[in-house]
Amino acid sequence: MINLILFGPPGSGKGTQAQKLVEQYELLHISTGDLFRNEMSNDTPLGKQAKSFIAKGELVPDEVTIGMLRNKVEANPNVRGYIFDGFPRTIAQSVALDTLLSEKNEEVSKLIMLEVPDDEIVDRILKRGETSGRTDDLDSSIIRNRIEIYKNETTPVYDFYSVKGKAVRINGVGSIQEIFDRLCDEIDNL
Ligand code: AMP
Repeated sequence: MINLILFGPPGSGKGTQAQKLVEQYELLHISTGDLFRNEMSNDTPLGKQAKSFIAKGELVPDEVTIGMLRNKVEANPNVRGYIFDGFPRTIAQSVALDTLLSEKNEEVSKLIMLEVPDDEIVDRILKRGETSGRTDDLDSSIIRNRIEIYKNETTPVYDFYSVKGKAVRINGVGSIQEIFDRLCDEIDNL
């Protein structure tokens, strides 16, 4: 199996690239952000729980996020691998992911970080907000908060996999195809 973590700040193109990677490698794309938005649009108890955190650009608590991710993985056991997008975002989530995969005798194959400068991120997200219907994409102070949380709470996840020799960074600036080619180079190296 190929179990990939697509990593990087909000707006770094993880979702866009994940869609292309799914076609190329036939992996299951799991975006915790998409799962939360789905729960919210169906007004489920989980969606209601997540809503206030997402609206402020804060992280949804680990136990809620990990439970949701586990359900999604366990509901899709017979796949060629997973692309985790927007997960893990904390060390606790990283430990939980490693445990979950080890129960299947699997492990994270690689974490690939898309590096994009802050100013470009804000521009990209505001632009996406014009059509995404995401309220957390419309307000630059919420976007800045998401970037701060990424730096403070989420970048340790990179180090967690880096000490295991599994983390790489690639340039996340360029055309969609250029960035996709950089990702494929990393995956084909596995
Ligand atoms: P995203 O679509 O990945 O930008 O996620 C949108 C929002 O969903 C984030 O700003 C968080 O509030 C929440 N979220 C998504 N994934 C996670 C996660 N792994 N842990 C905690 N909160 C998350």
